[in-house]
Amino acid sequence: MAKTLLKIKGLKVAYGGIQAVKGVDFEVNEGELVSLIGSNGAGKTTTMKAITGSLPINDGDIEYLGKSIRGQGPWDLVKQGLAMVPEGRGIFTRMTILENLQMGAYIRDDKAEILIDIDKVFTIFPRLKERKDQLAGTLSGGEQQMLAMGRALISRPKVLLLDEPSMGLSPIMVDKIFEVIRDVYAQGVTILLVEQNASRALAIADRGYVMDSGLITMTGEGKTMLTDPKVRAAYLGE
Ligand code: ATP
Repeated sequence: MAKTLLKIKGLKVAYGGIQAVKGVDFEVNEGELVSLIGSNGAGKTTTMKAITGSLPINDGDIEYLGKSIRGQGPWDLVKQGLAMVPEGRGIFTRMTILENLQMGAYIRDDKAEILIDIDKVFTIFPRLKERKDQLAGTLSGGEQQMLAMGRALISRPKVLLLDEPSMGLSPIMVDKIFEVIRDVYAQGVTILLVEQNASRALAIADRGYVMDSGLITMTGEGKTMLTDPKVRAAYLGE
């Protein structure tokens, strides 16, 4: 049996009086790629933010490596190997690309290795290398997405949480981002992926969960879900 890295138990999150996540249970095992899909406003981003400590939770618990991480902030979690690429990317717009990547290494003190990892990111995304001294705020949407992923990778995460990485990107960029996700997964990083692009997200997932109105409504193997008529009708536009 694979080791469970992330376990979400009875998670509830509210914004004021509005209950956005209403009691959600799921887990992500070591080495897995798990996709969380669902329509707009289903509570996917809220769930991701609660896991990474950027939103307080009202009830339930989140376990990482068997221990509760409830109440811990994003910086503490990155140190423990849990990195998130947020929706909207969260890059430092007034810093250069290189400075943003260096920020990804703030938890590390192995300078020589950091340089090697920055070079690796430049190999994955040559476009970032060409623009390394450019302010991140001037990058295109796709380039900002590459930078946000690059920065997360430099923290050498055990688990990478990706919130809508393909949002707003051109088809070529979407292909590139999914290719990078597949490569990172192949290197053994565990991935939790939230995506609007349900067919692509399920196609690369070991397992998937459907979220609807703050609850998990379906789950299964990624490829099985992809052919499930109910999933196809509701989320794949058929
Ligand atoms: P999308 O795919 O559209 O991003 P989602 O599944 O990620 O949707 P969430 O962003 O988690 O959904 O939103 C869940 C619900 O919580 C929605 O009804 C949304 O309007 C509400 N919500 C999200 N953020 C806030 C906020 N800061 N204040 C109040 N309500 C919010």
